[in-house]
Amino acid sequence: MEPVRTDVLTVTPWLAPIVWEGTFDPLVIDEAFRTHNLTIATTVFAVGKYTRFLRDFLESAEKHFMVGLDVHYYVFTDLPGDVPSNVTLGVGRLLSIVKVMKFDRWQEISLRRMELIQTAIEDHIHREAHYIFCLDVDMRFHGRVGSEALGRLVAAIHPWFYMYPRSQYPYERRTVSTASVPEDQGDFYYQANIFGGALEDVHRLTKTCREHLEVDKSVGVEAVWQEESHLNWYLVKNKPTKLLSPEYVWDDARGGKAKEIKLVRFSSVIKNKAE
Ligand code: UDP
Ligand code: MN
Repeated sequence: MEPVRTDVLTVTPWLAPIVWEGTFDPLVIDEAFRTHNLTIATTVFAVGKYTRFLRDFLESAEKHFMVGLDVHYYVFTDLPGDVPSNVTLGVGRLLSIVKVMKFDRWQEISLRRMELIQTAIEDHIHREAHYIFCLDVDMRFHGRVGSEALGRLVAAIHPWFYMYPRSQYPYERRTVSTASVPEDQGDFYYQANIFGGALEDVHRLTKTCREHLEVDKSVGVEAVWQEESHLNWYLVKNKPTKLLSPEYVWDDARGGKAKEIKLVRFSSVIKNKAE
């Protein structure tokens, strides 16, 4: 066995592992999961101009995401004709298009994403997969994201906040919002670009967040980071069983300079905000 990492936190105070390069053996963990014939549902939204991110997202996922496991991508889009049809998928990998309405404001997407994932789990995904991951599309895989990321409730530590104390985490603080987190609570700040787990656990998460988003909307409140604020509230109350280090949700805009990041696996691409 390789020595485990001593330069970073690798287990939470509630004994959930935090996955960093060097904390697992890819061969051993793949062998442990291989025989279960698992299908991983993967939801990704590409509404409006965001369809342009799909090709790189899918091509890089085919190289690095859950390789050797069955993956069923669900592409939620208002523009099915803009989904690239010539991305070669590996054996056991499928792509379905879920048609959605066009949203007027980007905040509306954030509001509806939890609801659409919740209903898709209820309608069909619960029969079609064992685990589910919900991913942003304006992202690219650069390294392995595999069976080491599977667990009942999985979330990734935000790449811009992990070095800060809790008092600096951008949780929603206003008590008028259902996402409000008191100053003395919260463990990590998670990024909403990737979360997942077992279907039942992710269903409960999306259902609760959806209800809270709707309550807030009905009183005219929008949490500071929209669905990410609600996700963070949920994970304060319902501790994830596995945490992914920022290797799993890096940001190209941060560059590669942090010494604890041995490997960038999945990273946000830099967007042209003006567009
Ligand atoms: N999204 C989309 N169309 C839009 C805006 C957002 O499909 O016009 C989806 C897309 O999956 C994107 C996610 O919503 O990855 C989150 O939005 P965005 O990436 O803009 O938020 P950020 O990561 O910058 O906070
Ligand atoms: Mn994004």
